[in-house]
Amino acid sequence: MEHSELYAQSSAIFPGGVNSPVRSFLDAGQKHPLFIRSAYKSFVIDEKNRCLLDFVGSWGPMIHGHAHPKIINSVIETAKKGLSFGAPTKKETSLAELIQKFFPKMEKMRFTSSGTEAAMTAIRIARAATRRKAIIKFEGCYHGHSDSLLVKIGSAGASMSQALTSDGILPEVSQETHILPFNDHSALINHFEQYGPEIAGVIFEPIAGNMGCIPSTELFIQTIQNLCKKHGALCIVDEVMTGFRVAKGGASELYPQLDPDLYVLGKIVGGGMPLAVIGGKKEYLDLLAPLGPVYHAGTLSGNPIAVQAGITTLELLEKKSFYTELQEKTEYFCRRFSTILKQHHIPHSYYAYAGMFSLYQTDVAPSNFSDVKQQSLEHFQLFFKELLKEDIYWPPSMFEACFLSQAHTLDQLHNAAEKVATAWIYAKKILDKKNQNTSLRANTAIEQVEFV
Ligand SMILES: *Cc1c(COP(=O)(O)O)cnc(C)c1O
Repeated sequence: MEHSELYAQSSAIFPGGVNSPVRSFLDAGQKHPLFIRSAYKSFVIDEKNRCLLDFVGSWGPMIHGHAHPKIINSVIETAKKGLSFGAPTKKETSLAELIQKFFPKMEKMRFTSSGTEAAMTAIRIARAATRRKAIIKFEGCYHGHSDSLLVKIGSAGASMSQALTSDGILPEVSQETHILPFNDHSALINHFEQYGPEIAGVIFEPIAGNMGCIPSTELFIQTIQNLCKKHGALCIVDEVMTGFRVAKGGASELYPQLDPDLYVLGKIVGGGMPLAVIGGKKEYLDLLAPLGPVYHAGTLSGNPIAVQAGITTLELLEKKSFYTELQEKTEYFCRRFSTILKQHHIPHSYYAYAGMFSLYQTDVAPSNFSDVKQQSLEHFQLFFKELLKEDIYWPPSMFEACFLSQAHTLDQLHNAAEKVATAWIYAKKILDKKNQNTSLRANTAIEQVEFV
């Protein structure tokens, strides 16, 4: 069946045909998404049996590539013993101890089924611990879709000219979420001067992964930490995307001065199964029921299959040189892309971490959301369409980070970088011509692209 027919069927029953908005491909200017049948190593295979090189990686979890035999087998063996008990298991403690090896500052933790729940619980703890209402969040950062955090989000919500704020959230709630520009330490200082005694916590992504991937400056991180300490607000580090990804100890390893009160983890920690973590200092985690007055629960929290997928995934990450290898692959890809674009004098920039990167249309890499939205959506949509033709499965939004896995080979990346660069140049040339108001057959621009 054609993807368009599958989409018509799914649209009759799911809003927008999907169960999470960005999957619809609407942001990428496509009429319908691809329906995926299976995935193997660095590839996804669609319902037309087409094999595409995957740069989405299920939005982060698939750091070992798809269907890794060790992970799949451990999940199957665990599933044979029952899917869910709603009771404690030994495996949960094993996974928690394993997580502590990656995040040694995490004294205690609680498992949830999604990053959304974990971040929501972190906010609840911060408000309970401080008896204050307001939360500071940065424009373009995404922390899941709970009411308090769904204000000026990046990623899939950011396809228009602005960071998105959802309808249906009480103004009393959203007004307690104070939005500041990312990487702007003086805005933060000013804000704390005015509202310090009202601030329960600051939540942020140390490497913001929902507007491409933008690193915090050292000064920004230092300022958040100092102000939180000084004003008695909780510092909440959201490493749902960067944890186990950008380094063994996540962004917290790249910014060793980070010592948050609370962490939020997700994505890789569940190895592709629904699992996330709220963790941090014992005094705050012990506020959770049944010990304390802050309620959090979940029928499937700590689900044994998800926990097993997490354990095997993290064990595989402990392999020596895992991250240096992945980092080298990512840099190889980005450098190759960049070299070709430089030869053609096409503006671009990028950030590259282990298995996570982002390409930008601007010559100066962005440092916050307003920089990111300088880019042309039309350029992105033309680019995306070309990549699909070339069997490259790219994140279908200009604001999403790209992921690659340890299963991606240098050969695959070498070829993909050329295709990505060609599509980028094509999009740029089409747009330039259009801006000059000359008509042009779609193919002429691409013929001018040659590799050295
Ligand atoms: C994906 C993500 C979340 C939300 O996690 P879900 O499991 O999708 O609810 C929260 N924070 C960050 C930084 C994320 O990238």
